Amino acid sequence: MQAIELVNMALAARENAYAPYSGISVGAALLTREGRVFTGVNVENVSYALTVCAERVAVVNAVSAGCRRFDALAVAWNKQGFCRPCGACRQVLYEFNPEMRIIMADYGGEYEEQQLKTLLPNSFEK
Ligand SMILES: [Zn+2]
Repeated sequence: MQAIELVNMALAARENAYAPYSGISVGAALLTREGRVFTGVNVENVSYALTVCAERVAVVNAVSAGCRRFDALAVAWNKQGFCRPCGACRQVLYEFNPEMRIIMADYGGEYEEQQLKTLLPNSFEK
């Protein structure tokens, strides 16, 4: 699957984000090795620390459906600049595939791509 296709799915998913506090809507699209795509959005809460990022929602969706082999994740938001996964999401994604392609997009679909292990060097491991 082309990166731009995954970016477009992340942008479309973003429309469902629940972000009444920050106003930052984020969508993620996670590609499995089998070619399935699971999406996620950020879900905020009045108790801010309970907010869940779009990337982790996508992982939870995929794992709940029995998928654990991931090749790529696209993440996009409603702002300028490339949307980058936070440290917590990088660690959660790393659990499944350090070689994963991470495609980081802006509101208009421009993007850059890096490998997860580059974004999270010297990660925590068992
Ligand atoms: Zn995050």
